[in-house]
Amino acid sequence: MEQRPQNYLPGIKCEVKNCKYNDAHCCTAEEIRVAPQHACCAADTACATFKPAE
Ligand code: SF4
Repeated sequence: MEQRPQNYLPGIKCEVKNCKYNDAHCCTAEEIRVAPQHACCAADTACATFKPAE
């Protein structure tokens, strides 16, 4: 079983492995912003806090 990082946002399981904030499917950002302002289904939404891992 994967270890959770020390600082992560509880309740978020993220599959975006190439985000710099992703650590073992946990999000280590201080907060996330989800966009756009209007959506019709989950697939219309995305994490606007994403930053590509270097
Ligand atoms: S910032 Fe967004 S995309 Fe990146 S790990 Fe957190 S939830 Fe996932």
